[in-house]
Formats: sequence, structure tokens, C-alpha cells
Amino acid sequence: MTQRISHWIDGKPWAGVADRTGEVFDPATGEVRGHVDFAGDGQVDEAVAAAARAFPGWRDTSLAARSRVLFAFRELLTERKNELAEIITAEHGKVLSDAAGEVARGIENVEYACGAPQMLKGGFSENASRGVDVYSIAQPLGVVGVIAPFNFPAMVPLWFVPNAIACGNTVVLKPSEKDPSASLLLAELFAEAGLPDGVLNVLHGDKVAVDGLLAHRDVKAISFVGSTPVARYVYENGTRHGKRVQALGGAKNHMVVLPDADLDLAADAAVSAGFGSAGERCMAVSVVVAVDPIGDELVAKIASRMGGLTVGDGRSPESEMGPLVTAAHRDRVASYVDAGVSEGASLVVDGRSPEVRGGGFWLGPTLFDRVRTDMSLYTDEIFGPVLSVVRAGSYDDALALVNASPYGNGTAIFTNDGRAARRFQNEVEVGMVGLNVPIPVPVGYYSFGGWKDSLFGDSHAYGPEGFHFFTRTKAITSRWPDPSQGGVNLGFPRNS
Ligand code: NAD
Repeated sequence: MTQRISHWIDGKPWAGVADRTGEVFDPATGEVRGHVDFAGDGQVDEAVAAAARAFPGWRDTSLAARSRVLFAFRELLTERKNELAEIITAEHGKVLSDAAGEVARGIENVEYACGAPQMLKGGFSENASRGVDVYSIAQPLGVVGVIAPFNFPAMVPLWFVPNAIACGNTVVLKPSEKDPSASLLLAELFAEAGLPDGVLNVLHGDKVAVDGLLAHRDVKAISFVGSTPVARYVYENGTRHGKRVQALGGAKNHMVVLPDADLDLAADAAVSAGFGSAGERCMAVSVVVAVDPIGDELVAKIASRMGGLTVGDGRSPESEMGPLVTAAHRDRVASYVDAGVSEGASLVVDGRSPEVRGGGFWLGPTLFDRVRTDMSLYTDEIFGPVLSVVRAGSYDDALALVNASPYGNGTAIFTNDGRAARRFQNEVEVGMVGLNVPIPVPVGYYSFGGWKDSLFGDSHAYGPEGFHFFTRTKAITSRWPDPSQGGVNLGFPRNS
């Protein structure tokens, strides 16, 4: 028996019959565990209409009441976090401890959104001119669309949905069709927390659903996370339809290791950040830049740690790395390993035949050394357990390499030299920088976002920039004059 996974519209499961559906796999067994309904234009209209109907009431709901729903949601999410992690592992494949980490980072964003009353306070200038006060108010946009990738099926929705609704918007969430179930549990928990029907709707599907949201008149803004080509497409089409869009794209994250670094710590970090979640993280380290003369020693240390990694079903407590999300993705990643070999990179650890039982989508951790910047291993986002080591002659060469990348999501430098680290933080053209921290995902009260082809738009996700994205401000200039102060004056008003 496979499960039917359907839309959540206006506070309840959708009762219709879908024209198209997609298969949802258990990546550790390769079996189909469910079929997800794909939205057509009719369901896009239904979901947006439900959100539009809910908007006036939700916008006028007090800050105190909105924030109470978020506190209640936070409690329910904390109580049910293991169940959510199990759903993530079952459809994405990442190991349970990693799924639990994803949920914990998502909860951080809910906690931030609970502070909406504080965040939405405007400024007030008494007596900006004589007898005139000026202040600002932040108002919601209306219906917003959130489009999520497969690799964080709970955390990425939680980057946006709590902040969007805290600001008084209503939401249509379009999760990845590869692992759609986590979003449904989030919607159920929101309903249980007292969120009114229609404030959060979950619409499943593919490009058709995305295109429907991009073109819909009643959708005022889009928050997107996914690969760079689709992020660019969403940004261009969403803005063409007059929407506010933030579109976070792909990555190729470099970890620079200077000769003075502690090489054991650096090797630990490279392995953790390269192979955690089988490399399917937008903040995964995919390139280690070893600055001369430490390359050989560092590669040996990384390789020896890789030998000890346990690849297996994410539900098993021994497993440290799970399968890839689909067979097609596994094959695509493996094709990069083949290309790396034929292009002449040095294959240090070959993960193409991992020892794992079962029919899942397996690929073991793979390490290449002496990768050149013209190889597809280096130029493309692989999004799998493949780590490339590039040798650089100096700090300046390493910096130039990072800055020449079209991507600018995350980067890290490993060094014991504070001045070099400080220089790197100043000079590197990347949105999130780790100093001896390999995956520098900012905490919920900062904001998350890359530069260059890793983000289209001008707002980063969550934190203060999230609140900024989900509101538009009005500046109010007010005067309560005495009738004796009247009189016509055609001059441009000046402040006195
Ligand atoms: P994807 O671009 O294939 O899909 C993302 C979303 O867009 C999904 O909901 C999907 O249904 C939809 N979509 C796919 N193709 C589309 C098309 N042609 N037109 C319209 N919509 C389409 O990405 P993915 O494979 O689900 O996720 C992995 C990618 O996401 C990686 O590139 C990764 O780096 C990136 N990512 C980035 C961040 C970040 O914060 N920058 C975070 C997580 C993931």
C-alpha cells in the first residue's frame, strides 16, 4: 500500500482527484512509498483564493494573538520533532540525527517569529517639524508564495512561513515534490496551534504549480530556494509579473586551509561538511583549497577519516551518511565522478561501489585531489558526496579562486592567524563566511543568503531581512493643527 499525499487548502486536505501525480521514494530502499498529487491551474487558483480570503482577517488579528499562535506552534513542533525527523529521513534519506538537526534549526526560526510584536515596531519622531510627528508602520503584503527545495523539507519552509504569517501575510507553500510530507505535518501543527483556515496552504506539484504562482495576480511575493537556473527563472518571471521576489540558488562552497591551520581539525571539518547529508546541502563544502605546502598531508588526513564513515539507511543509528534522494540524482552525481576520472583529476577515494545492502540510491563518499578549475567537477554544483581538493600557491591565489566562482553562498577559512582570517572576511565575495566554522549557517536572528548567482533579489532569508521582505512600510506625517493655523501656501513644505 502506498500513501496518497495531497494538498492542504483552507485548513483541510484537498478532496479532489489530481490529473497528474508523482512518485515519492524511500531512498534507502528504492521503493515507492507514496504518490503525491500535482497541482494544475485549478488547484493553484483554489489555494491562492483560500489564502486571499483569509488575508483580511489575519492581517487584522492582533500582534498578541498572532504571536500566541506561533508560541503554540513552537510547542507542538518541539513535542513532535522526532516524528517530523522520521518523515524527513523516510523521504529524503538523510540520517535521523541530521534530520533532527534540521528540525532544531527550523525551530530557531519559529522562535524568532514569536517576537513579531518587537520586530514590527516602527520608528516615531516627535516634532519632526513644529507640531508635526512622523512615524512608520510595517504592513503585510497579502498572499505570498514559498517554493522549497528537496534538501531541507522542513527547515526551508520554516525559514519563511513563520515570519511571513507573523507579519500578517497568508501563504501558499509549494514544497519539493520529492519529499512533500514534512510540509503537511507543519500545516497540521499550525492548524492545531490555532492558525485560522486558509492562512497557510500547501500546494504540491512541479513547474506547473510554480508557474501558476508566478503568474497569479493575487500572489504578491515569492520566496524561492532551489538550484541557480530555476532561481534565476523564478526571479525573472516573478518580477516580470510585478512581484517582490527573493530567490536563493545553488552553491559551490570553498573551504580554504592555510598552512598554519590545525590540519586535524581542518580534515574533520572537511569530512563533516563535505559528506553530511550526502553532500546535499547548499552549505556543504564541495571544494577544499589547500594552500601550499600542506596539500599532501591534508589529503591523507581527509582520506583516512573517510575510510571510517558508515554509509547506510538513515534510520539505523550506526549510519553517518544516507543515500541520495533519487536514482536519477545518484546517477547524475556518479557521472561527475566518471568525468573527473576522464578529465584527469586524481581519484583518492572512489565511492562508486559502496558496501550497502538494499536497493537504495547509494553512492559512497568520494575524494578527488589536484582538481583543476576547468573540470566539470569544479565548475558545476554536484550536490552529492564528492569532495574536490584544489591546490593553491598562496593566500592570494586561494582568495582569487573563491572570488572567481560565479557562486557566493558560503565559504570558510581554517587558520590560526587572526589577521589572515580578518582579511579573508573583508575580501571574500561570499554572503556567509566561517572562520574555522565549515558550515556557517547564520542563527535565526541574523539572515541567510549568498551573493552573486547564489541569490537573486536583495533580501536574504529569515531574521531581520525576512521581516523586511514580508512587509511594506508606510511613513505617516501627522499634524493636529489649531484652526487658527490655517491659510493657503503653495510653496513646497519645509521643516521649521
Ligand atoms: P530545484 O531547483 O530542482 O527545485 C526547487 C523547487 O523548484 C522545487 O519546489 C521544484 O518543484 C521547483 N522546480 C524545479 N524545476 C522547476 C522549473 N523548471 N520551473 C519551475 N519550478 C521548478 O532544486 P532542488 O533539486 O529541489 O534543490 C537543490 C538545489 O537547491 C541545490 O542547487 C541547492 O544548492 C539549492 N539550495 C539552495 C539553498 C540556499 O539557501 N541558497 C538552500 C537549499 C538548497
